[in-house]
Amino acid sequence: MRGLVWFRRDLRVHDNPALSAAVEECDEVVGLFVFDEPLLRSGIFGSACVNFMLGSLEHLASSLAGIGILLQWRRGEPVEEVIREAHDCKADLIYWNRDYEPRAKHRDRQVQQQMAGMGMSARTFKDHVVFEAEEVRGVTGEPLQRYSAYRTRWWVKWQTVKPVALPVPKPIKPTRPLSSQCMSTLPSANDLGYDVLTPWIEPGEHQALKRLRSFLNGPIHRYSDGRNLPASDGSSRLSPHFRFGTLSPRMAIHAALRTLAENGRGSRVDVLAWVDELIWREFFQQVLTAFPQVAEGPFRNAAIPRSRRPGPERYRFFQAWCSGHTGYPIVDAGMRQLNQTGWMHNRVRMVVASFLIKDLRIDWQSGERYFMHQLLDADVAANNGNWQWCASTGTDAMRGYRIFNPALQSKKFDPDGTYIRLYVPELASVPVNRIHEPHLMSPEEQDRYACHIGVDYPTPVVDHRQARQEYLNLGKQQVRR
Ligand SMILES: Cc1cc2nc3c(=O)[nH]c(=O)nc-3n(C[C@H](O)[C@H](O)[C@H](O)COP(=O)(O)OP(=O)(O)OC[C@H]3O[C@@H](n4cnc5c(N)ncnc54)[C@H](O)[C@@H]3O)c2cc1C
Repeated sequence: MRGLVWFRRDLRVHDNPALSAAVEECDEVVGLFVFDEPLLRSGIFGSACVNFMLGSLEHLASSLAGIGILLQWRRGEPVEEVIREAHDCKADLIYWNRDYEPRAKHRDRQVQQQMAGMGMSARTFKDHVVFEAEEVRGVTGEPLQRYSAYRTRWWVKWQTVKPVALPVPKPIKPTRPLSSQCMSTLPSANDLGYDVLTPWIEPGEHQALKRLRSFLNGPIHRYSDGRNLPASDGSSRLSPHFRFGTLSPRMAIHAALRTLAENGRGSRVDVLAWVDELIWREFFQQVLTAFPQVAEGPFRNAAIPRSRRPGPERYRFFQAWCSGHTGYPIVDAGMRQLNQTGWMHNRVRMVVASFLIKDLRIDWQSGERYFMHQLLDADVAANNGNWQWCASTGTDAMRGYRIFNPALQSKKFDPDGTYIRLYVPELASVPVNRIHEPHLMSPEEQDRYACHIGVDYPTPVVDHRQARQEYLNLGKQQVRR
């Protein structure tokens, strides 16, 4: 029997349920990846993401070759290409791991329908999450809308089910190239219409496992504090690996929990705080599955102030935010980190999102789209869930609005300005007492530190206190209506 494994968000050989099942059940296995032409042309994702994916595919091809499986690739409309490949390589069964994004679910249904018409069938598997949406529900079977409730039930499920992580499959009889349309070498980012760049976080399963090991050997045991400091290496930076499935969430959680048992070294609070973040990831996947409409609009109709209308001012504000020229150093450092590396620290993501929505009064969807385009870890569920959380339209609603004060956040989490100086070099010589609010420097100080506000570094685009008050006033009017 010949099996075709369609790789999508699972670019690894360890703990890959679809791959393991195919190897177990078939005499010959062929791997397939489809470059989704309409998606690539849509411009939703940017070069950082595409280069990470290509790098990871290269590693996957070599790992698969090691177990006797050839990774073929095709480019085009995915439904057509998968069906064509299944036909050309005379596959008896197609295997894939499930994807929960609305667009992907629609695509997969179409493939299944067409396959059924051809007398072929598919086997699909849970992989991207530890628990799928239907597995973690409220007492009456309802989808959960609060993270805390979801988390409690997630842990109950974990203790009951004890999910396993599968080993790398044993080598099987090698396959020959089967389809004349597929070449052995992968296309370059340029071939796909994107810039070639070296991903800031190294792609591929091998790098994911290496990074996980080094994180578990140190930073995880200081995670509760370290995770909030953008200048330190306090979080795992594994998000692109979870996004592209170069790392299995089950495997990562087991490995983290093992550090608690081994040598008594692990700090319980820190390790569990890290696992909690992976539960947030699953929570937002669950929200997207149960409430797919969030991809198109707010999760709930909150009484939030109307965003600024299109016009020159909105355009200027949005450009300043995107390019990191708002005059608020922590916001600018975050946006420049994003533009230069494709990644941004979580604390700073919250600060820049709050600033865009509350201070500049620009709709959260514009920020969401910009992040999707720039991020290495761009993921519909996590990105949308977090943007909606910041906009106060999402799950985990609270009274009032979450409005971050950028200067206070910066003083608290980047006290000596190391992070700011790294990404905003024009502030490099500004002393600590001025780095968070350089516009407060006197003309003499500006001369002394060779940083003239409005010349070398921008004047703040808005006054935070005033903008905050305006936002609150508009919010009150909205409630009264
Ligand atoms: C406005 C905004 C947009 C975001 N967009 C994305 C996105 O597109 N893709 C994405 O993966 N994360 C997104 N996040 C969540 C979070 O910022 C990143 O997952 C995190 O910074 C990744 O760094 P890390 O791997 O070092 O995380 P760690 O702190 O080491 O956490 C471990 C893993 O847990 C998951 N995780 C952590 N925090 C969150 C969270 N708040 N929500 C969901 N999952 C989480 C990630 O997979 C992460 O790799 C966003 C956050 C905000 C505030």
